[in-house]
Amino acid sequence: AKGRGKKGIQFFDKGMKTSSPHHLAMERDLRRALKNNEFEIVYQPQITINTGKVIGFEALVRWNHPEKGKIRPCEFIPVAEETRLIEDLGDWVLHHACCEVREWIKKGHDTIRLSVNISPLQIENPLFVENFVHMLDTCQFPGKNMEIELTESILMADLEHMAQILNHLHKHSITVAIDDFGIGYSSLSYIQKLPIHTLKIDQSFMQSIQNETDESCLVNAIIAMGKGLHLCTVAEGVETMTQIKYLQNQGCDAVQGYYFGEPRSGEKCLRFLEETTLI
Ligand code: C2E
Ligand code: CA
Ligand code: CA
Ligand code: CA
Repeated sequence: AKGRGKKGIQFFDKGMKTSSPHHLAMERDLRRALKNNEFEIVYQPQITINTGKVIGFEALVRWNHPEKGKIRPCEFIPVAEETRLIEDLGDWVLHHACCEVREWIKKGHDTIRLSVNISPLQIENPLFVENFVHMLDTCQFPGKNMEIELTESILMADLEHMAQILNHLHKHSITVAIDDFGIGYSSLSYIQKLPIHTLKIDQSFMQSIQNETDESCLVNAIIAMGKGLHLCTVAEGVETMTQIKYLQNQGCDAVQGYYFGEPRSGEKCLRFLEETTLI
């Protein structure tokens, strides 16, 4: 069962670690990949719905496997978590994204926010905040330009402990987004107990907007709640103008998704940033 360890939150059971031949092979592969720099970061822009300006980018990791080609994170993140390699991979992502996006900020795009996905195992480390802040320092990356994305399950696992961590990050002006919001839990009260900045509406809701099903009223409810709590609402997985118009009518703040193309290299993102209006 999930429980609390001495050092903080424990999300993973030892029993969860599967040592299937497939996983063992991938673990070996992942270690080599980290050493040989086989990872790459692509970015996906977040666009304000009213002005069409880019407000930030989410960093998404990719693995360029020498034989298997590009591997999506859903295939290797779970293995990286089970083997704790996610800690090294997480550091790699943070370091590389910060160094790249720092240059865009220096060029004058100083209000953009870099969003980085954080795995439960990273947060579980008692030195997480210290290491995180130190990494930003090393990369000369301003805290106010950094947002971390955490899922509901991480935030709710241990409220007091999370409050400590997030308040500490808040002191460095680092903001927090709830990733995949709306699919995990029915309890909502935790949101008021934590310094949250952004609600990322899970992409599964976008289908209901497109198909005009009753479920789309859940999106309206999430946006209304976000407004009431003065949170920024970002809809994920936006693929059509129909969805954008609907979200705009409901007062959603920003959108992210394939409507603006697939996640792309930093170089292409910088060009994207220099274009002015996108909607
Ligand atoms: P996520 O954080 O929910 O990221 C959104 C995923 O949806 C991304 O998949 C993105 O490419 C995809 N997506 C974006 N727009 C659209 C759209 O319009 N339509 C559809 N159908 N899909 C869209 P990706 O890059 O494969 O990432 C999958 C998951 O892997 C992420 O889900 C995140 O949980 C995890 N992940 C990615 N990078 C990292 C990382 O650096 N660290 C950690 N811990 N996890 C990561
Ligand atoms: Ca995310
Ligand atoms: Ca998400
Ligand atoms: Ca997701």
